[in-house]
Amino acid sequence: MSETKEPLIYVNGEYYPKSQAKISVYDHGLLYGDGIYEAIREYDGVIFKLREHIDRLFESAKSIKLDLGITKEEMEKLVIETVKKNGYRDAYIRIVVTRGVGRMGVDPRNCEKPTIIIIAEPRKPFLKKEGVEAIIASVRRVPNWALDPKIKTLNYLNNVLAKIEAINAGVDEAIMLNEHGYVTEASTENIFIVKNKKLITPPLEAGILRGITRETVMELAKELGYECEERNLTSHDLYNADEVFVTGTAAEIVPITKIDGRVIGDGKPGPITKELMRKFEEIRTDPRYGVKVYG
Ligand code: PLP
Repeated sequence: MSETKEPLIYVNGEYYPKSQAKISVYDHGLLYGDGIYEAIREYDGVIFKLREHIDRLFESAKSIKLDLGITKEEMEKLVIETVKKNGYRDAYIRIVVTRGVGRMGVDPRNCEKPTIIIIAEPRKPFLKKEGVEAIIASVRRVPNWALDPKIKTLNYLNNVLAKIEAINAGVDEAIMLNEHGYVTEASTENIFIVKNKKLITPPLEAGILRGITRETVMELAKELGYECEERNLTSHDLYNADEVFVTGTAAEIVPITKIDGRVIGDGKPGPITKELMRKFEEIRTDPRYGVKVYG
């Protein structure tokens, strides 16, 4: 199928063209944000770290006590089938699982079965070479004890509010601190700094998503001979870093060259960031890092 055609979207066992893929207004994903999701990329026919994404989806599901009603293997097959039906070699894939349709009221027992949606859209591989500007948002990352950021839920208002601050400030990205003032992550990316040729990234306990691109970058950094430490960072550490970059499935690796008006390093994407970007570009189509869709 050509990439100019409407994407075919999987909704509860059926495929619909994008304009006809719909769910009920009584879906608890819409009414209460009661659900989870994953964003995944396909690069040249390889779905990057598909199993890791499905593992994380099932961990999120367990945490919110949502029974998907299908196995990980079945989910993997459905994702591959959705991409294949669309004929995409480079795609952005979104799995959304909600508590399902039920009458009003937060009681999850109102919902008989979950709603499972798989969206695949054509998306070319992308690595932004020039740096972007960020602010540190005034809104704090929701703490672990309220809603653990390790769960990839449909509740993204915390992140949306941070993004709105970035937009209002006329910059691209917002970095969020936790309740103790330590750096957590950007609105939908994890964050790294480079200081004296060493990578440092906030630990999971700071209250962040266990990013799959973050883990990939940590592996690649080690392969390239760089030490990578997980420890708490403050805004001072960000401002005084040699390099700063963020990582995520949609963004890939993006250098941050200015934060709150402070120039980072020499104001250009740093050499270690660029090395990691090159390495990421190399491995993202490698079948060892994912699952092949075709043949
Ligand atoms: N942090 C948040 C809050 C996110 O929403 C995302 C991705 O959507 C990430 C980090 C990056 O995670 P990953 O690399 O698995 O895409």
